[in-house]
Amino acid sequence: MNFVPGSIRIFYGPDTDPVSGRVEWKPAKSIWIGTMTAVAIVFGPLTITWSALAVFVVSSAITLCAGHSVGMHRRMVHYAFECPLWVEYVLIELGVLVGMAGPFGIIRQHDVRDWSQRQPDCHAFLCHRRTILRDYFEQLHCELLQPNGPELRLESRLANDPVYNWLEQTWRWHQLPLAIALLALGGWGWAVWGVAVRVSVCVTGHWLISYYAHREGSQSWIVRGAGVQGYNLPVAALFSMGESWHNNHHAFPASAQIGIHPDQPDPGWWLILVLKRLGLVWNVNTPETLPPRATLQRLDNDHVGWVALRRLGLHGSP
Ligand SMILES: [Zn+2]
Ligand SMILES: [Zn+2]
Repeated sequence: MNFVPGSIRIFYGPDTDPVSGRVEWKPAKSIWIGTMTAVAIVFGPLTITWSALAVFVVSSAITLCAGHSVGMHRRMVHYAFECPLWVEYVLIELGVLVGMAGPFGIIRQHDVRDWSQRQPDCHAFLCHRRTILRDYFEQLHCELLQPNGPELRLESRLANDPVYNWLEQTWRWHQLPLAIALLALGGWGWAVWGVAVRVSVCVTGHWLISYYAHREGSQSWIVRGAGVQGYNLPVAALFSMGESWHNNHHAFPASAQIGIHPDQPDPGWWLILVLKRLGLVWNVNTPETLPPRATLQRLDNDHVGWVALRRLGLHGSP
């Protein structure tokens, strides 16, 4: 079984400080999402058709579900299941097409945040503690520089993989052949809605769900000692491909199933079940297969999480 307790990639010592650091504007990031958003706002309404809308919905669902949620998050980051390398490549390529970052960039963003949130306190950038407008600007247009922050070392399997290194170098360019293909197949409406509208909506939507998933919502679990807790956002369950059951994810990070109750829809989990049935995925982790976690505390009532947090004296109330 390839369960990994906590993060396998984060290294830290007694001087590591998850609280200090400064947020700096990152032009490349800003130009990327700024351009996609501007094209979407200006040309989206001018080129909208029913078929362009369908291209937007289908391409968003495939890239977010198979690519970001199942490939990048559940497989590459957490090793929540095993699969052949070619299946992993296909899933990660679809994840790259979301337009958020390359594979190593996604791992860095995720693992530094994940580790920092499990410390007693961390930088406001890492737990979305700012106002919503400031958080939007910082997360999508800036980066956090932490000279005394934790060190991330990629496992050699990924660091030495030529395909992943190539994807990391070229991830923004992967929109271009897709845009050309959509233009040829369906005209400007398909290209604008299948690339610019999709990338701007998915990247901005991902940030918005992360923002609320660390601030308010229902909870079934508390991770004792962690300065930041996750919250479940039922309203975003389908759009986020199951990722918005974020309280469950904080409780069971290595579980391939994030919507763990029958009434918690989790499209990413449904896809994993299909891939398992096809024999393309095996050794699938769920909360039942993971070792017990001493710091995990079950709450009696899903909706009193914030009360319990205050009682425990932990940060986390909105
Ligand atoms: Zn989280
Ligand atoms: Zn995660």
